[in-house]
Amino acid sequence: MDQRGSLALQLTVSGKVELPCQRCLGSMPYVVDVGRTLYLARNEAEMERLDALPDSDAIQAGETLNLVDLVEDEVLLSLPLAVMHAEGECSVTGAQ
Ligand SMILES: [Zn+2]
Repeated sequence: MDQRGSLALQLTVSGKVELPCQRCLGSMPYVVDVGRTLYLARNEAEMERLDALPDSDAIQAGETLNLVDLVEDEVLLSLPLAVMHAEGECSVTGAQ
């Protein structure tokens, strides 16, 4: 809880996942490193107030919050849409 009484959640996720390369479909390691502060709004009015703040990410939370879903969403959002091996590291070469 900050000085203004707002609830905030500090989220840090780090680890490694394997993503399919869009060129050769082979797997490539991708390092996940998520660090976010999410403000938790308890109602609509608080949500509007928090959304108006600069650099503020707010979500509306009721009495309970499903942390597993939240962490999963944050990780999925952090992943690039399409990844490819670097030139020379991909098993498909010369493809344009
Ligand atoms: Zn590849």
